[in-house]
Order: sequence, then C-alpha cells, then structure tokens
Amino acid sequence: MKVAVVGTGYVGLVTATCLAESGNEVTGVDKDVRKIETLSAGKIPIYEPGLLELVQRNRREGRLQFTTDLGPAVKGARLVFIAVGTPQSTNGDADLSAIWSVADEIARHVKDAPPGPPGSRVVIIKSTVPVGTNTRLHERLKAAGCAHLDVASNPEFLKEGAALDDFMKPDRVVVGVRRPEVAEVLHELYAPFLRTEQPFLVMSPESAEMTKYAANAMLATKISYINEMANLCDRLGADINDVRRGIGHDARIGFQFLHPGPGYGGSCFPKDVQAILGMGRHLGLPLYLSEAVDRVNQRQKQVLFEKIAHHYGDLKGKTLAVWGLAFKPRTDDIRESPALALIDNLLAAGAAVRTHDPEAMANVRAEYGDKLVYADRPYGALEGADGLAVVTEWQEFRNPDFEVMRRLLKERVIFDGRNLYDPKLMKSYGFTYYGIGRGDNPARGT
Ligand code: NAD
Repeated sequence: MKVAVVGTGYVGLVTATCLAESGNEVTGVDKDVRKIETLSAGKIPIYEPGLLELVQRNRREGRLQFTTDLGPAVKGARLVFIAVGTPQSTNGDADLSAIWSVADEIARHVKDAPPGPPGSRVVIIKSTVPVGTNTRLHERLKAAGCAHLDVASNPEFLKEGAALDDFMKPDRVVVGVRRPEVAEVLHELYAPFLRTEQPFLVMSPESAEMTKYAANAMLATKISYINEMANLCDRLGADINDVRRGIGHDARIGFQFLHPGPGYGGSCFPKDVQAILGMGRHLGLPLYLSEAVDRVNQRQKQVLFEKIAHHYGDLKGKTLAVWGLAFKPRTDDIRESPALALIDNLLAAGAAVRTHDPEAMANVRAEYGDKLVYADRPYGALEGADGLAVVTEWQEFRNPDFEVMRRLLKERVIFDGRNLYDPKLMKSYGFTYYGIGRGDNPARGT
C-alpha cells in the first residue's frame, strides 16, 4: 500500500519505518528541514535501538523515503498518518495547532482527487488527541471540500527504547472508524504485525481516542501510587522494595509499572494527564484522581533534591554527579525528564553538576550549554564530586565498580533515584546511601 506519514518524530519515524519493513511504500513527511536532510542522508535524528539499521535497509530497498513536500506524498497515498506533536499548551490542554495545519495542507492537495469507494483514501490520526478531535478533523476536511476522505483514529502505544518491538509485536491495535471498510483496510495494513493473535480492536473514534488517554492515565496512576507508598515507607522505616514484593505476588496487583522513582517524565504522561484534566475542566467534571496523580508526580520530582539538600545542608560550593539524563533508559528523549528538574534545583541552590548519559547528552547540552560538565564516561562524572545522584536506570549503571566509585568521589554518598543498589552492599563499601522509600529518610518519624 502507498502510505504517507506526516511527522517523523519518535512515533512517526517508527511508524513509517515499520510499515515500510512490512512491504508498504512509505513516504515520511516533516516540516523540519534538518530532520529530513538527516534522514535523507541515511542517518536518524533520534536514538532508538535498532531503528537506524531498519531505516537504512528500507531506504536502500526503495520502500522508504523522506520529504518536506507534503503535496506529492499525500496525493499518491491511500493512507495518510498524522503523527505530529500534540504538546501541552499554556492552559494545560493539548495544543492541536500542528494537527489542524497538517489537515489544511492535506485538504489543499487532495480536494480535487476523484472520489473512490469507502476506504480508498483515509487520514489516520496517530497522535494522541482529545476525544472529539477525529470528528472535528472530519468536519474540517469536509468544509475544505474533502468529504471523500475517511478519518480514522489509531492511537499508538509504543514505548521509546522498545519502540520497534512494540510496533511490530503490539499487545493490541486499536482503531476508531465510522465504517467497516476503513477498519478492513487498516486490518490489512496491520495484519503482518498481528500474526500471533494479538487483538485488532475496532471501535468508535471517540472510544479509540479515549483508550489512549485511559491507558496513559492508568500507567501514570500506578507510578504515583507506588511513589506515594514509597514516601510513606521512607518516613516509617519500611522498605518499598520488600513491600513491592509483598503486594506484587498478588495476581490482582502484579509487579508491572510499580517501580518507585523520581517521578514520571517524558513527552506523554505529564501532558496526557494534563489533557485529561483539560477535558474534565471543559465539561465541568472534576477528575479528582487524575488531579492527585499529577500533584503526587510534581511533588515526587522534588524528593531526590530534598534528600540531597538535607544531607549537605548548604549546597553552595558542592559538586554533584548526575547519572542519567534521559527520562528513561534506551532513549535520548529528555522531555520533562526528572533529571532536569533535579539539575535545575541543584544549580539554583548553588551546586555544580557533572553529568553523564549514554545517549541524551547532546540534547541536554543544547539546553544547558556550559552550565554543566558533560563526562563521556560514567566514572568521569564522579571525579571530584561530593556525591552521586542516579536518576535514569540505564543498564550500565546497575552494576558499576563500587571500588572505583569510592576512589573517585570526594564524599562517599549515593542518592539512588531508581533503587538500583542494595543498601546493605552500599554500607559495606562505606557509602552513605539514600534510595526512594528504603526507610532512609533523614526526617524519618518526624
Ligand atoms: P515528536 O515531537 O518527536 O515529533 C513530531 C514531529 O512532527 C516533529 O518532527 C515535527 O517537526 C513534526 N511536525 C510538526 N508540525 C508539522 C507539520 N505541520 N508538518 C509536518 N511535520 C510537522 O513527537 P512524538 O514523540 O513522535 O509524538 C507524536 C504524537 O504521538 C504525540 O501526539 C504524542 O503524544 C504521541 N505519542 C508519543 C509517544 C512517544 O513515546 N513519543 C508514544 C505514543 C504516542
């Protein structure tokens, strides 16, 4: 099938590449000239494991190309995916301006195309958008002379860092459609990825749009829940790691997504919870749980800093090493990363910061410039530092050489934002150790 994917960011590029990999003829479109130049030169503008090789192979085999020119790409395509960003706007609602601008451009280029049978030309919203956006887009296209276009919703559930696997072996594919012919063409497109009987779920556009928000809200809720329990453990002298085991073996609860940490970040959870609150606000419907999830998370982003500030008293003249800058491992994405919240707090308190991240340093450097020191190796960040804060759980931070760390750190103290290390082992190496919810809160019992 001929497919156009508008927006070649984390979602659009993965979508375009995986659809090419399954034999479709795909054009990725982006208004960002630098991105398209990078892609057309056989490189990729983001870090995502395995993606570069797949992009290169599909380009070589002629199934994948990139352009800034939307017209020809959408004119020739049966399916046009919209995968542009839908960031948080100043009032918290999702900013849909990129969606509308792409829609207007599509309309301009296909309004004179001869109408075909149902499902012969479909615009598919892959971006995460508030409920009702599909209908608004449909109306907008009709008003622009494109009544012949179908509009489907197909929310994306991939995780950065495991995006290819998630796209190629999805737990489920959700499509929101107005007529069965559109579901059929999307089923045909996704069939190669559904070989092991994963469900292809057909529903209304509104339900599909809501499904994406409901999924992210549930995951964000789990994180805020375990973080709240962790903070209580900290004060009461319990260890959240033991508590996790104690509850996780209950099949009704399970272990997934119940890892305490420095708060959730990324380009999705924070803005999607805000967008849910926005939907409630517009309806006059209070969403108490989502509000609390967001508040707990904002608070959680301060917890690691508070432990550090409490330990040193005055941070002026201190140097902290920070391991992990990306909002999670296996990505270079730093949007809303808890590491940046910590760094901002440290800098504001007068500390110097030495950082290391395997993939995200270029993105951080672009924002922070020479306010930070960037070390090529994890141990380089420790040289002369008064302590280490671990914020992102990259694999290579899990089993470091503690002897080397002892030698490099001026003061042997570790603030472990991901509970990677065993407090007893840390003690045996002579480290002062702070985790999240390990019962080590200096303000314990107060
Ligand atoms: P992104 O910022 O990485 O990419 C968006 C791309 O769209 C950019 O390259 C930008 O230049 C391009 N763009 C913006 N306006 C355009 C226009 N008018 N014409 C052409 N290109 C345009 O965003 P992302 O992380 O890929 O997210 C895209 C959508 O997918 C969002 O709605 C997001 O919520 C959703 N989503 C993201 C993830 C994720 O893990 N990143 C997962 C599921 C869903």
